[in-house]
Amino acid sequence: MKRYQLRIAGKAQEPAGLAWFETQNPYTGQTWAEIPRGDARDVDLAVQAAHQALTSGPWAEMTPTQRGASMRKLADLIERDASRLAAIEVRDNGKLLAEMQGQLNYLPQWFHYYGGLADKVQGSTLPLDKKGYFAFTRHEPVGVVAAITPWNSPLLLLGWKIAPALAAGCTVVVKPSEFTSASTLELAELFEAAGFPPGVFNVVTGFGTEVGTPLVEHPLVRKISFTGSDSTGRLINEAAGRHLKHASLELGGKSPNIVFEDADLEQAVSGAISGIFAATGQTCIAGSRLLVQDSIHDAFVDRLLAVARTARMGDPMDPSTQVGPVTTPLQYRKVLEYIDIARGEGATAILGGEKGTSPECGAGWFVQPTIFTGVRNHMRIAQEEVFGPVLSIIRFKDEADALRIANDVRFGLAAAVWTQDIGRAIRMSEKLQAGTVWVNTYRAISFMAPFGGYKDSGLGRENGADAIREYLQTKCVWINSGAATANPFVMR
Ligand code: NAD
Repeated sequence: MKRYQLRIAGKAQEPAGLAWFETQNPYTGQTWAEIPRGDARDVDLAVQAAHQALTSGPWAEMTPTQRGASMRKLADLIERDASRLAAIEVRDNGKLLAEMQGQLNYLPQWFHYYGGLADKVQGSTLPLDKKGYFAFTRHEPVGVVAAITPWNSPLLLLGWKIAPALAAGCTVVVKPSEFTSASTLELAELFEAAGFPPGVFNVVTGFGTEVGTPLVEHPLVRKISFTGSDSTGRLINEAAGRHLKHASLELGGKSPNIVFEDADLEQAVSGAISGIFAATGQTCIAGSRLLVQDSIHDAFVDRLLAVARTARMGDPMDPSTQVGPVTTPLQYRKVLEYIDIARGEGATAILGGEKGTSPECGAGWFVQPTIFTGVRNHMRIAQEEVFGPVLSIIRFKDEADALRIANDVRFGLAAAVWTQDIGRAIRMSEKLQAGTVWVNTYRAISFMAPFGGYKDSGLGRENGADAIREYLQTKCVWINSGAATANPFVMR
């Protein structure tokens, strides 16, 4: 069994408490590695290392162009190791190999894109209203960044944070999810080979209260970049407020996937399936509320059912598998509980609704792909994030009704509209309260496309050129170019 170490100041390091915890393979239920159980002492060491790298030594001296070159080298190393990292994630997380290979092949683009941006951050000279002064702005790294990630797509979501953070010149301490720490520790080994000085990228693994809390509260951490549940996000934002730190939060969702009667129904069926059964529904952007127009409801549900029935559960390493296990036993129980809640609320399971126990499911934590009809938007199954392969279908009458239902939820991460009517697509995209709106597609993301939540789905944006601003702070420099000495008792 592999025993991992923390990664601090460019070195593998034992946790101060000399404690490890086990991590399991969700398909076999077997323990396959031991993860260091860090605590506040390890957090302090890592933050001190990050602070030192930020303020003195080679990273602080590197030009933005040199930082960009290291980022591009890192991209190449990730590309080289994509299959190895993908296989580790499948073992630890249960995600399909095909999905992970796709994510790992794509991840280098974040480092190419932000690596290219590193030396294009420009300040400005100010056309001042005062004579005898010259003033300009500089955009400087905000400081040590705490990057806290969830278990569902550990490396991709980490890349969304660290690529702009490193481009901005920050240093980073990462706390990955206790359920899926291995891939982040493996990634950490590539940084020095890419030319990053020790201390620029550090990883402290462990639990939320033992590592996450001291990291968020550490006085030398200036920015917290968090992806996870809204309940943890609230705690982090409170702590950030108490300690006056910058925080960006990527939280949960309950995204409406809206099918109008004029949609290309084959495409819409594929979009509905991709919205809820891809990644076993364990994505923040899951299209977990499928809104279907009354006039096509029954026919559409029949077509959807015909395809959803064929979804193959099984070994995530097998390329023919379409739905893998749920990642953690805790999440497995939560998803099953929500299925009971939906039944109790009067929704009808027209597909699935049980544990997956067929031979292909092995000893894994499988939940059958599940579809509920007869869901009303006020039900808990329509309002709360399940984070599993459970779809709620809700009827609507017309555009106004669709909008009312779609927006009647506290989340606002994503939404999709299926229609051939361009006017309707534009009207809906204007009025949907979500950070991402897809028209006739679902689950499309890019390093160039800003991503983040409205309402309870978060604060701040990741991806796109502006995301680098989340890791910069602006300084204004004033230079007196006049000879006269001013009256010291009057504001200049
Ligand atoms: P979580 O909130 O339980 O944990 C996220 C991370 O926070 C973990 O590393 C955890 O150890 C850490 N943590 C827990 N308590 C903490 C504390 N008190 N202080 C500091 N850190 C703490 O979330 P999860 O179950 O790992 O992930 C699933 C959630 O993430 C879902 O709600 C999902 O929608 C959301 N998510 C959002 C996005 C997005 O981009 N908006 C992407 C993926 C997942």
